[in-house]
Amino acid sequence: MPLYEYACLDCRTKFDALRSIKDADAPIACPHCEGLQTSRLLSLFNAHSDGRTITQSAPACSSCSTHACSTCGVN
Ligand SMILES: [Zn+2]
Repeated sequence: MPLYEYACLDCRTKFDALRSIKDADAPIACPHCEGLQTSRLLSLFNAHSDGRTITQSAPACSSCSTHACSTCGVN
């Protein structure tokens, strides 16, 4: 079951909760003030993918697709 992070809009408390995916956006009571004015924050799980860099091989030049013409050699 994934861990979600919530914030209470009333008392500003942040708290974590293990919930099933279908209940992720269902109302959840704040453990501090028991209010239901809570909203789900972006999960920590999703934040991890932001730092990844995708490396690509250099594309062929516009005049060939073999990386072997004279224009390719300039690069
Ligand atoms: Zn609260």
